[in-house]
Amino acid sequence: MDLKQYIAIVEDFPKEGISFKDITPLMDNGSAFKYAVDQIVEFAKDVGAEIIVGPEARGFIVGCPVAYALGIGFAPVRKPGKLPREVVSVEYDLEYGTNTLTMHKDAISPGQKALIIDDLLATGGTVDATIKLVEKLGGEVVGCAFIIELTELKGREKIRNYPVKTLIQY
Ligand code: IMP
Repeated sequence: MDLKQYIAIVEDFPKEGISFKDITPLMDNGSAFKYAVDQIVEFAKDVGAEIIVGPEARGFIVGCPVAYALGIGFAPVRKPGKLPREVVSVEYDLEYGTNTLTMHKDAISPGQKALIIDDLLATGGTVDATIKLVEKLGGEVVGCAFIIELTELKGREKIRNYPVKTLIQY
């Protein structure tokens, strides 16, 4: 299935100069959404995932159905102040300023094999911070999967030590 036809490209969103890739038409189409999730489920089986880790908010949308299909858990990665119990945090650099992501301290058990899932790989900053969170908790990152990869931003180079699966490239 050609998944690209279900991605809407929105110029100058959320700011001028950004060509935003919108996955909501893909989510809107049951067979396209199922096809995309099924591809990632196969990758998750190949890498032996024991838990799915997904950054808010679109990592939840893509990651949760994969966890459900495999009958394994899902651990959310969120911005500071959103998770109610004790967390670990990682700060990372943005083009202007920094961002922080958090995970519950007990979300991953030592040695547990984690697959990180998000909608889109751009510079790789988000996934790199998520890898650091999982590793802080003693988990083993067995792979990273995304629906979309923006190849020019070279996010893949940041995660070159991990198996990576992307379904659509721009
Ligand atoms: P990175 O950290 O630069 O790799 O950016 C990836 C993160 O930003 C992901 O969590 C995406 O959801 C979000 N993101 C960046 N660009 C886009 C886009 O064009 N469409 C949807 N999400 C995006």
